[in-house]
Amino acid sequence: MGRVVISGGAGFLPSHLCDRLLAEGHEVVALDNFITGRRENVAHLMENPGFTLVEQDVSEPFTVDGEADYVMHMASPASPPDFKTIPFETLKAGSYGSHNMLEIARQKGARFFLASTSEVYGDPPPEHHPQVEEYWGNVNPNGPRSVYDEAKRYAEAVTMAYHREYDLEVRIVRIFNTYGPRMRPDDGRVVTNFITQALNNESLTLYGDGSQTRSFTYVSETADGIYRLLMSDESTPVNIGNPNECTMRELAENVIKLTGAESTIVCVEQPFSDDPKQRRPDISKAKRVLDWEPTIPLSEGLQKTIDYVRKEIAVRSS
Ligand code: UDP
Repeated sequence: MGRVVISGGAGFLPSHLCDRLLAEGHEVVALDNFITGRRENVAHLMENPGFTLVEQDVSEPFTVDGEADYVMHMASPASPPDFKTIPFETLKAGSYGSHNMLEIARQKGARFFLASTSEVYGDPPPEHHPQVEEYWGNVNPNGPRSVYDEAKRYAEAVTMAYHREYDLEVRIVRIFNTYGPRMRPDDGRVVTNFITQALNNESLTLYGDGSQTRSFTYVSETADGIYRLLMSDESTPVNIGNPNECTMRELAENVIKLTGAESTIVCVEQPFSDDPKQRRPDISKAKRVLDWEPTIPLSEGLQKTIDYVRKEIAVRSS
């Protein structure tokens, strides 16, 4: 068991990872600047003696007291609307943030873990579908999403440079769309948008014609894949995602059915010029090296997320 320093620890996915790390017996030091992370995501951990929460922007220089066995860089805005409203914070999290976290890992002799993303593949053409780790991507270098995509690509590059130059132990996960409790209901992503709209009996907003696809993984399964990778010997990138692909129209229909809403579906103009048309992971590598494979069906995960958003709406309106 070890001491884990994790950036973005109060964010949606990293907060589930904090739960998992503590359950496995690790000590956790979570850093967050609370731009998109929320204290309530880790409120249940504040009495846990193994957990420490530190307010810290990891894009600025900083130090961490004590030893560290693992340094996990999970901090970044991750919702496309955030890329438009906080572009510089997004760029800095992937660039300066990666440098600073890598330096902490190097100074402490810790294993470094990078949260990369399926966005490094950009908008993959049909011949690169599904996406394997060897695919180099088709990324618009200056479109609205580029602040995230290029920062994460840079983050992978600087991570591998530390590995090659300093022999730093590194792990890189490419995370595909993940959903579940603790997402910000107003984060602007498709799952939370559709659920919030359905619960309010509003129309569900399909961007474009809704034929674009994504592949959604329930958060506990993503956290499990990440934990397995952290503990593995694999130093090259690994996809963690669910190969079950659906169109956004199918997702909207699913949400309407599960909520029992009377909502309709409306097509609105696509706000992102570089929105990927299709995305699905090839997870052969994760199966092979991590013995990991998601099993929770979308309808089951969506139901849990709907229950969570329903409670959030009730709390906010009380
Ligand atoms: N989308 C949609 N309606 C919404 C929000 C998003 O149709 O209200 C679409 C969006 O254009 C994209 C997909 O849903 O094709 C997934 O969007 P999200 O922002 O959740 O994540 P992304 O995978 O694009 O980073």
